[in-house]
Amino acid sequence: MDKKKIGIIGGGAAGMAAAITAARKGASVTIFEAGDRLGKKLLSTGNGKCNLGNRVLDENCYYGTRKFVRDCLERFGVEDTISFFEGMGLMLRERNGYLYPWCEQASVVLDVLRNEITALGIHVIHQAKVIEVSPREKGGFFVRTLDEDFVFERVIFACGGKAVPKTGSDGSGYELAKKLGHRIVPVVPALTALKCKEAFFKGIAGVRADAEVTILGEDGKAAAKERGELQLTDYGISGIPVFQLSRIAAYQLQKKKEITVFLDFLPDLVNPEEAVNDRMGLRGSRTVEELFVGTIHKKLVSLILKLIQLKPTDSADRLSRKQIQHFFFLAKRFPVTAVATGDFQSCQVCAGGVDLAQLTEHLESRLHPGLYFIGELLDVDGRCGGYNLQWAWTSGHIAGMHAAGR
Ligand SMILES: Cc1cc2nc3c(=O)[nH]c(=O)nc-3n(C[C@H](O)[C@H](O)[C@H](O)COP(=O)(O)OP(=O)(O)OC[C@H]3O[C@@H](n4cnc5c(N)ncnc54)[C@H](O)[C@@H]3O)c2cc1C
Repeated sequence: MDKKKIGIIGGGAAGMAAAITAARKGASVTIFEAGDRLGKKLLSTGNGKCNLGNRVLDENCYYGTRKFVRDCLERFGVEDTISFFEGMGLMLRERNGYLYPWCEQASVVLDVLRNEITALGIHVIHQAKVIEVSPREKGGFFVRTLDEDFVFERVIFACGGKAVPKTGSDGSGYELAKKLGHRIVPVVPALTALKCKEAFFKGIAGVRADAEVTILGEDGKAAAKERGELQLTDYGISGIPVFQLSRIAAYQLQKKKEITVFLDFLPDLVNPEEAVNDRMGLRGSRTVEELFVGTIHKKLVSLILKLIQLKPTDSADRLSRKQIQHFFFLAKRFPVTAVATGDFQSCQVCAGGVDLAQLTEHLESRLHPGLYFIGELLDVDGRCGGYNLQWAWTSGHIAGMHAAGR
């Protein structure tokens, strides 16, 4: 039988999924892992619980070429992910569609993957950083590590991006791909916080609020909005809604020095004028600060009062309708100025990467048939919610199948 010899560069989520798929199809598989163990990044996913997928899955959960992503998800979607893990003995739990291992330990996800890799006889070489891949005249490819050269019929690049480089993904995959003639869509941090320039953040650090966050585009109009738990820190804004918008901010910040983001601390208040009327009626013997107690977080009330130059201890009786309107206007459309995203050390994923236009639907290089690119290394990044790991399983499966089966 023609047993394909496949080399996989990188033993993260995508590399392990590709290795298991290809070995199950009968290929002889070797994983080169730069670190001293496989899947280091998996351990920190989902706050140590590993959100490995999501029942709500379609191409709109991703950035990159969505049609390409959709075609891939049609071939390996969430049901396939569930079968893949359950087939290796992992019991799963679901919370609002988010999938986790039943025991909520990311290390267990890694254990089942590693057990399967051992059971399939996949060869793993640790501390083997690949420094070059080149086509061989006689066919196949040389894979060069610092210590040794190898030859494979097919090579799958699964080096990750450069988010949290201490987990192994140091961006070397982009360089390897570039040397082989592949285009790299500019890589920026994504799923990360935004640093803001206002000095008042120190005073509101630690506040968490259900808020809608709107980021303005280059034309000054709303480019995107997200709702969820906003976290205010001493340097700016964080939390899931900010993470979801951060890749848009990152690309804009490459062109501009700063961008405006509006925070709506009362997203369910559709008619602010009613709230204004209510507060007008409450003025009585209250102080200005007391008048607004019960609206938004107390620290935010104090901040807004300061910004609109109202003294908290003054009598509310003297407040005009216009001043109360001003308070609610800011509570619903509070502007902050983002000047930077979190860096590659602190982001969860990278946006940008190997250009999908140079790949076939099997994630095979159009420039060098026999080479494949998968996972975060590609110009595909997902929203928070298990979508990046889903992309690792999906792309790993597709490339593993094709590399082993062709
Ligand atoms: C803190 C954190 C939390 C996250 N939580 C979630 C979550 O809950 N759900 C979710 O879906 N996603 C989450 N993600 C994102 C997700 O972990 C990644 O998108 C996913 O791990 C990418 O898989 P990958 O295999 O492409 O790359 P990686 O997991 O980064 O693996 C790449 C591997 O390649 C190795 N390597 C790199 N270059 C070379 C080389 N030249 N030679 C040999 N080996 C090399 C690296 O050592 C590494 O082991 C999180 C990320 C972070 C940082």
